[in-house]
Amino acid sequence: MKQSSETSVMQTEVANTTTNQTRLQQTIEHENGITAPIPTTNDKSPTAKAAADAAISDLDVCFGDPKLMIKGDGLNRVRPQKGNVIRFAFLPIEVAGRLKTAKSHFIHKKGVYRCLSKGGSNALCCSTGIEARIHVVGPVLRYTNADPTTGSLDRNQPIVWELAYIDMSVFNYRQVCGLPDEESDVYSIDLIMSHANRAFGYEFGRISSIPRWTLDTQVKAEVERAAKKMFLLDGGKRLASKLGKTATLPEWKALIASVTNGAAEASLEDVEGLE
Ligand SMILES: [Zn+2]
Repeated sequence: MKQSSETSVMQTEVANTTTNQTRLQQTIEHENGITAPIPTTNDKSPTAKAAADAAISDLDVCFGDPKLMIKGDGLNRVRPQKGNVIRFAFLPIEVAGRLKTAKSHFIHKKGVYRCLSKGGSNALCCSTGIEARIHVVGPVLRYTNADPTTGSLDRNQPIVWELAYIDMSVFNYRQVCGLPDEESDVYSIDLIMSHANRAFGYEFGRISSIPRWTLDTQVKAEVERAAKKMFLLDGGKRLASKLGKTATLPEWKALIASVTNGAAEASLEDVEGLE
């Protein structure tokens, strides 16, 4: 239970990153004396001294500070290491919004870019020779203390969790759709994800017919609160951004030039983006 509360605090901090960045900015401005110079020792009043001390202690930080450790936007992809499994649950629509899908191109060494083609038309991006693939991204809860080789969680063990997103190919998506029993649905089970026994891609399985996070009312409330901040308050923008960057036509021209130049070095790295 305690572990779960701590995770929730971290989630809150993720959501507050922008605020913290603003604070950091203000601190820097204070340091430079631009907006509010720190009172000097020449000012002998006790209030001024206390303010000066507080201004200094505001700058304290430890190694591993969660605010400085967060990379990107705080929403990470679930992606198992080779030989390991990840246990997770899809968060229901009312808790975290809908899945999102789009076609995108994986450009070697550049990243994932949304395809510009609509309907039957072939936009410039599709002349790269790199096929646009359909991705489906969805909001999930990852059980971070599940057994890394089996995904099992002891019945009496409190869960430790984090919010994340999953990026599925159409193949993955179809496999996931087939996991629940007929009378159930994808949101009502816990899943495991591992590397497939082929060159690339992932395998999915069902590990529980009830999502573990919904069993404890306090945990459930914490998850729903955190999910609202992460997935709902921005109208799904953060999740949608995981479908790829949006490039303009001139940007695509530059990308295509880089593809043409780098065509000879297509390698296993490309596989990562094709999953
Ligand atoms: Zn395209």
